[in-house]
Formats: sequence, C-alpha cells, structure tokens
Amino acid sequence: MYYIGIDIGGMSIKGGLTDETGKILVKDSITTKPDNPYPETVKDIAELCDKLMQKAGIDASKLSGVGMGIPGTINSKKGVITYSNNIKFENVPIVKEFRKHLDVPTYIGNDANCAALGEVVFGQGKGYKDAILITLGTGVGSGIIIDGNIFEGKDGAGAEAGHMGIQINGERCTCGKKGCWEAYASAAALVRQTKRAMQKHPQSLMHQIAAENGKVSGRTAFKAARENDKAGISVVNKYVKYVSEGLISLVNIFRPEILLIGGGVSNEGEYFIKKLQRQVSMYSYGGKRNPYVKVVKASLLNDAGLLGAVALCLPKNA
Ligand SMILES: [Zn+2]
Repeated sequence: MYYIGIDIGGMSIKGGLTDETGKILVKDSITTKPDNPYPETVKDIAELCDKLMQKAGIDASKLSGVGMGIPGTINSKKGVITYSNNIKFENVPIVKEFRKHLDVPTYIGNDANCAALGEVVFGQGKGYKDAILITLGTGVGSGIIIDGNIFEGKDGAGAEAGHMGIQINGERCTCGKKGCWEAYASAAALVRQTKRAMQKHPQSLMHQIAAENGKVSGRTAFKAARENDKAGISVVNKYVKYVSEGLISLVNIFRPEILLIGGGVSNEGEYFIKKLQRQVSMYSYGGKRNPYVKVVKASLLNDAGLLGAVALCLPKNA
C-alpha cells in the first residue's frame, strides 16, 4: 500500500510517497507560483505525484490515496478549498480538478489539522486519542484531535485556536481583530517582544547576540536567557506566560491527554517545554486533582504536513 502526501505552502509545494507505516520512500517539491494560478497549480501537483511514483518505481494502480494539507478553511467533505489567503484560493473544488489528472481517492484537510493527525498516527502523539498540536511559527496554528479524529467545526472553519482572544483591545492580529493569542504567542510576536525589551535594555546580551546573527530572531531572547541575561530571561518568561495562557484555556475546554508543541520556537527544546509544562500543570482547572496533561515537543517537524496528509488517506481516517 502506497500513499502520497502533499503539503501546500505559500512558498513551496512538498510531496512525499510513503508506505502505510508513514515511512517516506521518496520526496520532492515544486515552487509555489506567484498568484498560484488555478487550475494550473493543480496540474503541477498531479505532475509532482507522477514524478514521485516514477522515482519510487510504482504506478498509479499501487497508489491507495493522495492526501493534501492546505492552509486556510478547507471543506474536507466536499473536497473544496473555501478560503486560503496564503495561496490565494477561494471556493476551489480541488479534489474534483485533481482527479481529472490522477484518478485515485483524494483527501484534503487544513494543514494544521493534518499535522495534528500526523502526530497521533505516526509521531510523538502515537497512542493518544485526545491530543492538541500547537505550532508556534509565523502564526499560531492548531489542530485538535478528539477520540482519534480531527475536530474541525462546521465546514472545516473551526479549530483556529490562534485567534482566540487573550486580551481585550490588545495587539493587532493578522486576522484584523485585536488581542488574539497569535499576536502574543507566535514567533513573530516573540521577535516584537524581544525588540521592545532591547530598546529598554541597551546593556542586554541580546544586542550582541542579534548583531552576531545579523538580526533579531525568535532565538535571540532564548539564547540570552540561557546565558543568564536578566532582560532575556524576562522576555522568555513573559513569552512562556503568553503561550501558556492559550494552552491552559485549551486544556480547560478539551482536557486532551497530550499537548504537542511544534513550529520554529519548539526547537528551543526541553528548556522551553518544561516551562510550559509547569504552567499548564499549575494553572489548568483543578490542578493536580484533574488528569495530567503531558506537554511535549512535536516530532515530525518539516514532514508533519506531508505525513499528516498521508494520515488522511488511511482507512481509519478516510
Ligand atoms: Zn487573529
């Protein structure tokens, strides 16, 4: 049994051919065209699939399914991209169009939802039925798995935890609203918080670290904090509070067994994850009296979208 997972992003479209255990046999990618013309892009994706099959030495008859993880609001039942601002698709019947080129069972899902499913099927969340994945990158992505299935709300428009409010009249979010969790907990927000602290603390080690790297990044404050720089520690602790604020709300609503943390900031590893765990354990409703929620770093990293898309095709999920 072979599957193809496609991870559609604003910069590139990645594809991987796997077996049913999620082992990636071959991988390839194409650049996302400017303005992403439809239906040409769909044809390009089909060609990418052909290339993957050629490389792996299999033909379409051996292919059990193609899954696609796509940013935005995805109507997985109808096979339609309702709205994706990243790739500029609106009301696109992508599954129908794709099957004109390659007629195999094709499934689509929101990329963050796919990544969460990928983690519970193939990754660090394996064996858990109730799990939430949060990705801390340019934005804050979320995927909610309840009893082994993706929870996506009506027509796939739910599970956007990054846009839950944590501050009335707070910082402006990319969605237009003020005070969203994403405006405080994304890597982009961390960079803003770091820059503000640097202005206030000209003696902080963060200046030297940023100069060495040529820019202020999501790592600047963490690096300084590890060197015991006071201003750096303060930025990290505040950022941990912001991230935890959302995690605790999610725990109080869903009480998953496990919280998986992905995205660029998760590369800070145990130093960061332990701080989140402490906050979640201390401040979730009921404290130690309620079931323990484990906080771990997500494991599939750059392959999460691709493997999550494959997970969509597996008999249990399709
Ligand atoms: Zn928002």
